[in-house]
Amino acid sequence: MVSLDSVDTFHFDAIIIGAGGAGLRAALQLAKSDQRVAVVSKVFPTRSHTVAAQGGINAALGNLTEDNWHWHMYDTIKGSDYLGDQDAIEFMCREASEIVRELEHFGVPFSRTEQGKIYQRPFGGQSQNFGESQATRTCAAADRTGHAILQTLYQQNIQAGTTFFDEYFAIDLVKDELGHIGGMVVMNIQTGQYQLLRAHAVMMATGGACQLFKTNTNAKINTGDGLAMVLRAGLPLQDMEFWQFHPTGVANKGMLLSEAARGEGGVLRNGNGEAFMVNYAPHVKDLASRDVVSRAIAIEVKEGRGCGPNKDHVLLDLTHLDADVIKKRLPGIREIGLTFMGLDMCSDPIPVYPTAHYMMGGIPTNFNGQVVTLDESGQSVTVPGLYAVGECACVSVHGANRLGGNSLLDIVVFGRAAASEIERILKLQKPASFFDKALELSSVEARLNKWEAKPDVNAQTESTAQIKRDLQTVMQEGCGVFRNQETMSTLIEQLEPIQKRIDQAVLQDHSHAFNLERLEAFELENLMTLAYATVHSAIERQESRGAHSRVDFPQRDDENWLQHSLYFQQNHQLRYKPVCLTPLTVPGFEPKARVY
Ligand SMILES: Cc1cc2nc3c(=O)[nH]c(=O)nc-3n(C[C@H](O)[C@H](O)[C@H](O)COP(=O)(O)OP(=O)(O)OC[C@H]3O[C@@H](n4cnc5c(N)ncnc54)[C@H](O)[C@@H]3O)c2cc1C
Repeated sequence: MVSLDSVDTFHFDAIIIGAGGAGLRAALQLAKSDQRVAVVSKVFPTRSHTVAAQGGINAALGNLTEDNWHWHMYDTIKGSDYLGDQDAIEFMCREASEIVRELEHFGVPFSRTEQGKIYQRPFGGQSQNFGESQATRTCAAADRTGHAILQTLYQQNIQAGTTFFDEYFAIDLVKDELGHIGGMVVMNIQTGQYQLLRAHAVMMATGGACQLFKTNTNAKINTGDGLAMVLRAGLPLQDMEFWQFHPTGVANKGMLLSEAARGEGGVLRNGNGEAFMVNYAPHVKDLASRDVVSRAIAIEVKEGRGCGPNKDHVLLDLTHLDADVIKKRLPGIREIGLTFMGLDMCSDPIPVYPTAHYMMGGIPTNFNGQVVTLDESGQSVTVPGLYAVGECACVSVHGANRLGGNSLLDIVVFGRAAASEIERILKLQKPASFFDKALELSSVEARLNKWEAKPDVNAQTESTAQIKRDLQTVMQEGCGVFRNQETMSTLIEQLEPIQKRIDQAVLQDHSHAFNLERLEAFELENLMTLAYATVHSAIERQESRGAHSRVDFPQRDDENWLQHSLYFQQNHQLRYKPVCLTPLTVPGFEPKARVY
């Protein structure tokens, strides 16, 4: 039996769960202000999913074409299908240019223009002068921007003296006897030992969860652990119906071919060789925002204009571009084509189909990174001691649909802002008596003990890997690019037996060192929790907005649904809160039709 009463306990001012761009930017801020900060990561920090980000980070630097942050803000609000909170969006877009220059000074090796300025490329949903011509706003280090940012932030943290718990798996938040967030139970993956980390501030920076779907662009570690922990702590998740399907995943495999390919001039073609995006977005064509392009591809295939023997994909065509430009600007994605399809995009079009890429929803926060919930009267209140940043958080700057290049920006802007807020609060109060309070450990012990059960020699047992595959398949079918009442009701029925299989599953391997079966079991429980959050949030929202596309309710309905969903695990309860339509300083943008 697992007991956490006498495990090793470590004390910090702040602990950050996650060593992606968000967690590392926050940690750097705290380490530099002499706070004792620890970062926990289930993989070595530079293997976090941020490393895979290809296309770039948005900032209205105006290095190639005229730009300013008001235009960036307008595009982000419009791209969010008006569900983004305008105070947070203004905050992010205003900070963007300065934070990109800060990254440059930290050492990020951005690509350069001939004049030596940071190179920028056009991305979907970017405009000049509030919706007019295409803007060029995405700052890039070739097509390995995330790699460059993550390595640089890691090096800066080493220099600043951040403490790292590398290859530690965070299991659950724990509260103290007064009900305050008091710390985290973690497992040292190398030894299998459980430990307690106690801190005045706990920050979730655990990244995304697209492993919930069968085809996705995400790292295998993106299982939404932090989100599930927050639900188990009795707090809500926001806007979980909004999952972005990226239009150009390698067909039937899912790996990402960045929007940068279309930014550099790539075109999508159907089975008749037509560049079909002109029929869906005559103005911006292939650079329409991702929800629009993904739906267009799905419709082309559904209506029989797909490519290949099964007509189940379309082609991403860059063959008309100069091969040297492809090799210089897109070396990473050319390599993906070569490795996974045996095709060279300099001479061959690449088969693509939409693939789950990004979660717009997550742990609700304000733009200081403080986690918020609703009190009994429906007012937003902050949760003392708990913060969330990065893809696991919902600030919400992406609303119903994220623009390419805005997530790398979100993670560094709000990583820094949340850390500054923690620093401010810790300077005001850091009571030593905080650590004297007893912790409530029984519910997490019960979870851990469930997986201690030994297999019954006569019983048929199944692997958690098989259960995960089945979960991913039903999620993709029931809650993919298009959904309706029927697919989602069926999905809810399908989830029940999957939950039962998880309840009955037992581990075959009970060893301690690097027991990946145990980790996968924890991850599967977390994914299951998010599956329920997603489908219940989605079935309630009776409209189409951004990435939530309901065939049975095809229109956006601002009268009834211009609001954020808040899902609580208990009884799958849903509550709602208004969207912030008041920017910090500039006059509001009225919700109006999106024109492409
Ligand atoms: C292929 C790909 C390309 C992309 N390209 C772009 C792009 O060009 N531009 C852009 O703006 N956005 C892009 N994105 C999105 C963007 O990269 C991510 O949203 C962002 O990097 C997420 O950063 P993060 O710090 O929130 O999380 P991550 O980088 O995912 O880090 C999560 C961290 O949490 C840790 N963690 C998770 N669970 C646990 C646990 N239980 N215990 C301990 N540690 C845990 C992990 O170890 C990891 O360190 C891309 C995404 C993908 C998948």
